[in-house]
Amino acid sequence: MPRYSDELIEEVRQSNDIVDVISQYVHLKRSGRNYFGLCPFHNEKSPSFSVSPDKQIFHCFGCGVGGNVFTFLMKIEGINFVEAVQTLAEKANIQLPTLENNADTAKEILKSKVLKVNEIAANFYHENLYLPESKIAQEYIKKRKLSNETLKSFKIGFSGKFDELYQKLKKEGFQDPEILESGLVNKNERGQYIDRYRNRLMFPICDARGKVIAFGGRVLDDSKPKYINSPENIAYSKGRNLFGLNVAKKQGHLQQLLIVEGYMDVISLHQRGITNVVAPLGTALTQQQGWLLRKNAEQIILSFDSDEAGLNAKIRALDILQDMGCDIRILQMEGAKDPDEYIIKYGNARFKNLIDKALSVIEFKVKILKQNLNLESTNDKIKFLNEIAKLIAKVDNSIEREVYIEKIAKEYEISKEAIYAEVNKLTYSDAKSEKILERAKPVIKHKESEEQVSRSSKNKRKHYIINTFNGGIKHL
Ligand SMILES: [Zn+2]
Repeated sequence: MPRYSDELIEEVRQSNDIVDVISQYVHLKRSGRNYFGLCPFHNEKSPSFSVSPDKQIFHCFGCGVGGNVFTFLMKIEGINFVEAVQTLAEKANIQLPTLENNADTAKEILKSKVLKVNEIAANFYHENLYLPESKIAQEYIKKRKLSNETLKSFKIGFSGKFDELYQKLKKEGFQDPEILESGLVNKNERGQYIDRYRNRLMFPICDARGKVIAFGGRVLDDSKPKYINSPENIAYSKGRNLFGLNVAKKQGHLQQLLIVEGYMDVISLHQRGITNVVAPLGTALTQQQGWLLRKNAEQIILSFDSDEAGLNAKIRALDILQDMGCDIRILQMEGAKDPDEYIIKYGNARFKNLIDKALSVIEFKVKILKQNLNLESTNDKIKFLNEIAKLIAKVDNSIEREVYIEKIAKEYEISKEAIYAEVNKLTYSDAKSEKILERAKPVIKHKESEEQVSRSSKNKRKHYIINTFNGGIKHL
């Protein structure tokens, strides 16, 4: 296997502090000489995953995984050693010499072939879009007012007839097993090879570095299904990628990143000047996608559809992102079913206004809570107050807590004093029970100061401040 020199690998290792790298995925908290957090490789409620800055290694006492910064990246991103070295070199601005081929096993060779097939297919579809026989696609694009720049940024294309792509790939010298593995061509019972995507508008799906790993294809007439997506294969795992991230990332590290449901939401917003947008790929948000979001932006704005399914998607995504310590806002949209429809109807300025007014997690949860209660009834009003107090009690920052109490008291016409009284009751009993827990389970010593907790200010998450009072890792 071609590889980099030991000196170069060592330079890359030394230029990437393991605590900084792991902090992008795991919320770490210092305890003595080491850092601890919830293990990303097994399910756990109390932290047994440790990182040693002195030795530059990690180890999980729960499931036994361990290693250095390269091992961590390989495991968490599902990449090979050379790819891990490349990723970390890029991060540290270290120039690497070009390797002929970083594949040595049959599996890696097949993977690199499939990526090549995808690249050729993306170009083929994109060029096809401009041909006279692709009129139906051109009309759709005109109707959607997609500019040439947008078409190029996303490399949108149009798939041809019967086996055009298959013929093209054969001409390029690919073998049938490689072509079939890409999922772009199927073999029927009669032994014929037929393109999977025919007469569809094509959206290449890229990884964060811009390599085409799969496709989504949309019909332009009434046939079903409306969308088909590449099957998962050696080069593509849908839960590990986000549509549009490679385009959004061109602006560097983002202050805000919007997450929407569909390809067309991403493209339509991009077309209208909102370029920091991504979409999960036909799945509920996964933990890996959560890491990608957290790694690339300071604040995540959930902008799913305004229907019931969208609401459920928001709640599921909240669960995942909150556990990671992300700063989250929830976009509230009325008068349109999705961001695509909204921005077309009301324009860029009003959509930006929605972003500015997006709710905090607490405000969102209080709103949902209220929808299910009748505040005219005394019982429900008491219940509402109790639940609000529970939510606010989890906010560690007292100033933030105060802001929420003010806001909620005003909006829902509840007395501030009543909320304070309930919150104080809860924070007092919380502190007591956590102290008991601590004594029973002395895994990690607490009493840390806030600045010790978050080493790099980049990773400082507003809603994830460690409570200096009782040492509990708390977030909203
Ligand atoms: Zn573990």
